[in-house]
Amino acid sequence: MTNFRHLLEPNLRRILGACCLASIAACSPAEPPQTPGSPAAIVNEVDPDAIDLIISGDYVVTMDAAGNIIRDGAVAVDEGLIIAVGPAEEINAQFTANGNIDGGNRIVMPGLINGHSHAAMTLLRGVADDLALMDWLNNYIFPAEVEFVDAEFVRIGTELACWEMIRGGTTTFVDMYYFPDVIAQVVEQCGLRAYVSATVIDQRSPDAESAADSLVKGKDFVDQWKGRNSRITPIYGPHADYTLNSEQLVATRAAATEAGVPISIHMSESPFELEYSKQAYGTTTIDLFESIGFLDGPTIGAHVVWPTTDEIRILAERKVGVIHNPTSNMKIASGISPVADMLAAGVRVGLGTDGAASNNDLDMWEEMRLASFLQKVDKMDPEVMSANTVLRMATSGGAAAIGIEDKIGTIEAGKRADIIQVSFDDVHFVPTYDVISHLVYVADEQDVASVTVDGRLLMLDGEFLTIDTERVRQEATELAKRIQSALAERNR
Ligand SMILES: [Zn+2]
Repeated sequence: MTNFRHLLEPNLRRILGACCLASIAACSPAEPPQTPGSPAAIVNEVDPDAIDLIISGDYVVTMDAAGNIIRDGAVAVDEGLIIAVGPAEEINAQFTANGNIDGGNRIVMPGLINGHSHAAMTLLRGVADDLALMDWLNNYIFPAEVEFVDAEFVRIGTELACWEMIRGGTTTFVDMYYFPDVIAQVVEQCGLRAYVSATVIDQRSPDAESAADSLVKGKDFVDQWKGRNSRITPIYGPHADYTLNSEQLVATRAAATEAGVPISIHMSESPFELEYSKQAYGTTTIDLFESIGFLDGPTIGAHVVWPTTDEIRILAERKVGVIHNPTSNMKIASGISPVADMLAAGVRVGLGTDGAASNNDLDMWEEMRLASFLQKVDKMDPEVMSANTVLRMATSGGAAAIGIEDKIGTIEAGKRADIIQVSFDDVHFVPTYDVISHLVYVADEQDVASVTVDGRLLMLDGEFLTIDTERVRQEATELAKRIQSALAERNR
């Protein structure tokens, strides 16, 4: 058993006050009182025989296969693992913990899984809006990236994204951007769990001259990070079938197979891609991938807006994890992904935000809501996608889509302790009849009260324990000023 000190970052010590290693109940009257309704984290005297943490809630929404919801529940956590889940009374009778996160008016649930992001693009949030995908990419995003994106940009942008994701209860993300080593270093520090892709693309990019160069650099990155940190999985991110040719796609798959890591790729996203694939390859994207053996290994396909019926069958058979990005698909008018049809065919579907330049935020609560509404209006059927279905896509379904359902996605003994609390204090939760309905159709980022990843507390009641948010705000603001004046100069 470990003690609570490794959970107790300096900021948390401040929150808890000077008497942080004794029960808050024993604090002197001079200590500031807890804000009414805020979750109290009570840190006991460190007892080497005690477990690390107990997280409580009025409800524990487990997202397990049976859909169990435990009223007045608690989760026991030790050494990064969930070791027991049950009624709070039983958990508290069975275990003594060095840290307790109270659960009054809180829901405990698995952390959200953002299956597709370009984290550092938070710095390009709002730089070019209201454009079609290829116009947006070729005339704004790719040129802006070549001009502005360097290791420093990626560090600041990824820190900004991690701050936003922790704020909103995301605990795992699958990222695709440049300078993956820098991304992985930020993730290591901020405490999130991530798949970090080495982007492979056949054009001059911020960190490579060509597809061959990006693949060589990608191999270095994967070699360096494989097995280095259990929260960080280095993977390959070939960009798309319109930015790589079939030989380059095959070479990337071979590198991924050799390293034993998955691939994340944009797949059948827009009408342009559909047309391009037909012209360049004489077939559609997923059919091409299948014919060249590109799906012979774990694959995460972002978007999948335009699959044929036959391709949906291929996705199910090949266990491709599809990541639906409803906000991005709507904003760029890429189309409406046939998510309900894919789920019915047995395809593993998760949710993602895409980059903040095409969203323009990293709010998974909004993705859940829009995923449901978009299918309903597309099929003109309010029953086609329930709140429970989209909550699964953001948790256990997302974990299955990225291939780690044995580790995360539910609150069950034996899983890693990636756990959030959602506060039911805000007026929009009054009244509450159905917890799942409220989580999907009402909750937003601001309602997340605590975030724990791998048993480590990252955010408690709006206090960030692993990110110096003021420094990040300042650095991001300074960098954005430079980008804005350079763009103004270029457009003069
Ligand atoms: Zn994307």
